Amino acid sequence: MGAITSCCVECDQPITNPICASCLSEEMHILVHETRPDLAKHIVGFHFGGEVNCIKCQKGMSLCAHCFSKDIYEYIKENDSMLAKEFVNRFDFDLRVDLISDAF
Ligand SMILES: [Zn+2]
Ligand SMILES: [Zn+2]
Repeated sequence: MGAITSCCVECDQPITNPICASCLSEEMHILVHETRPDLAKHIVGFHFGGEVNCIKCQKGMSLCAHCFSKDIYEYIKENDSMLAKEFVNRFDFDLRVDLISDAF
């Protein structure tokens, strides 16, 4: 047996929290839509495919939750810094570690 380990295409770290961009974007969409439906429209999921299967939809994935969240976070931050803080509280895939040096 042994779990299949695969690394994220973006950060090259092993994917330990396999939730795909598509499933994550659905949850992010719900949060963002509460306050900024205009921004929520731009949060779209996608499938890269990969050797690790998403724990929710079982599809293959190759971008880790951290990298996808960070991409969306940066998009939100450009448009709404208050919402960006709430986003980090909700989707904390080690985002704060990266953001310590940020003016956050
Ligand atoms: Zn990554
Ligand atoms: Zn999924």
